[in-house]
Amino acid sequence: MNPASDSEAIVIAVSKGRIFKDAMPLLARVGVRPTDDPEVSRKLILDTTDPGVKLVVVRASDVPTYVEYGAADVGIAGKDVLLEYDGDGYYEPLDLGIARCRLMVAGPAADCMPPNRLRVATKYAGITRRWFAEKGVQVEVIKLYGSMELAPLVGLADRIVDLVDTGNTLKANGLRPLEHICDVSSRLIVNKAALKTKHLRITALVRQLAASVGASSPWGGA
Ligand code: AMP
Repeated sequence: MNPASDSEAIVIAVSKGRIFKDAMPLLARVGVRPTDDPEVSRKLILDTTDPGVKLVVVRASDVPTYVEYGAADVGIAGKDVLLEYDGDGYYEPLDLGIARCRLMVAGPAADCMPPNRLRVATKYAGITRRWFAEKGVQVEVIKLYGSMELAPLVGLADRIVDLVDTGNTLKANGLRPLEHICDVSSRLIVNKAALKTKHLRITALVRQLAASVGASSPWGGA
């Protein structure tokens, strides 16, 4: 990154797992490498090789909250999480094109007649309600926090709404994709106030990341 004109470090919120794995090579290209591995270390605030940048490691669904409230200046979050969060307290300047997958409705491969009122298990309760409401289909949404694929197998739900990448997890559990809700990839989000107070540093970071993923620069400049 360019030398800082504002003295405070930029704090980037990121979650462990697939997004972290895919985001680290992108950050490394702009000179930001964590000095600890979050899969090994118990630290939740990580220093990086850039003294002007720190990472905070949070749950994926908490990334927009940290950024909206300014506890982090910048965040990396899946579009699925942002749609479910449904907030407008941050900017979303850049599609990083990583952790790509699809958000889908899925159900048993050998489906019998759908019952009157579908029960849909998901961790995306808001997206699911909106999706079926727009289609005029009455559903009962059952909120789960993981292993959605199990729900139809044990009679908890008729359908699930979940992320699908290769489709192998669905197949291994006798399920098939039924409806494509949206494509998902990870986005860079930016706290609105931080864009003003740390303007030069944040726009430089966004510009460099945009260049490294081959996107046009969202806020002008080279
Ligand atoms: P797959 O078997 O390749 O279709 O992957 C499906 C499983 O991986 C499901 O449990 C999903 O919740 C999870 N998954 C797929 N893509 C992603 C992603 N981009 N980020 C987080 N979880 C994902």
